[in-house]
Amino acid sequence: MTDRIAALQRSISERGLDALFVTEPGNRRYVSGFTGSNGVVIVGPDTLYLATDFRYHEQVRQQAPRFELVELGVDQDKGLAACVDGIGLERIGFDGAHVTVDQLERWRKTMPDVTFESASGMVEALRGVKDAEEIARLRAAVELADEAMAHIMGWIRPGVTERDVAWELEVYMRTHGAEKLSFDTIVGSGVNGARPHAVVSDRVIERGDPVVIDMGALLDGYCSDLTRSFCVGEATDAYQRAWGLVLEAQVAAEQAIKPGMTGREADAVAREIIYHGGYEGKFGHGLGHGVGLAIHESPYASQRSNDTLQAGNVVTVEPGVYDLAWGGIRLEDMVVVRENGCEVLTRVPKVPVVGG
Ligand code: ZN
Ligand code: ZN
Repeated sequence: MTDRIAALQRSISERGLDALFVTEPGNRRYVSGFTGSNGVVIVGPDTLYLATDFRYHEQVRQQAPRFELVELGVDQDKGLAACVDGIGLERIGFDGAHVTVDQLERWRKTMPDVTFESASGMVEALRGVKDAEEIARLRAAVELADEAMAHIMGWIRPGVTERDVAWELEVYMRTHGAEKLSFDTIVGSGVNGARPHAVVSDRVIERGDPVVIDMGALLDGYCSDLTRSFCVGEATDAYQRAWGLVLEAQVAAEQAIKPGMTGREADAVAREIIYHGGYEGKFGHGLGHGVGLAIHESPYASQRSNDTLQAGNVVTVEPGVYDLAWGGIRLEDMVVVRENGCEVLTRVPKVPVVGG
């Protein structure tokens, strides 16, 4: 926490701001440790305040002891303005990707002498590079998702519905320590698998159906993200061939990823294999994304990404092929970018057929 605050204070001062208002919940937690749902973390080059309401006073003292507590009062905008006036702030940056137009108008009205400017990405830039403690938490979240997926691969059989599978996974994760799911579990069977973000339905899974399962556990604030695809009972040769191609693309990307590579280059490694293998245009999303306190965060690996990978990034590697004629295949691992390559965190096996 000390290192990230110091790094943020340096960038605030370099940018010529008197302070940064941190309001996006993940950013607020990352900077201060505070997990409450309301509050403005105010970081100046050498000041730290946390302005919130009465409900959270005790929580702030426990979770964010380095921050000076400010009571916002009944009219929270006025309370914030009094605090800003007291500290003497004139130029304030804010989370432009999070603050609403309404909120910004209220701030400008209650603090007419203050210059507000969008300073999006300042906290996100730090969040992209995980420290050892964060990697340990992510590893634990990945392990829990791995266990749940291994459980479902032994459990799934013809006759169960997509909803049965999603519930079995949820129960497994919740009874094995997850705070909650990282996101709503995706179970796409048959042609439903052709939609990468399929909504779980009551469709019954038949023998020979391809299934895409994308899920994750939230543990200690950190998310995991895992996808496996397989046929239940038996698979056609065409499915096995496509599945092998997706695996080849994933392994090639995992072997290529290293610091200095751009997200676009990493994406291209997998995309070329899939396109040359006969599935041009059938991999309709990016290769991967950062994972941390949020399920999707910087850096991104896609055809339009300008991000450059660096040591300490934790990203997904998730190539796929989709076809409305039969369904989809996606394999997703989480990896840590290391000094000379990447370490794959996900351990659950990849197999084209289960439940035979
Ligand atoms: Zn996923
Ligand atoms: Zn993902």
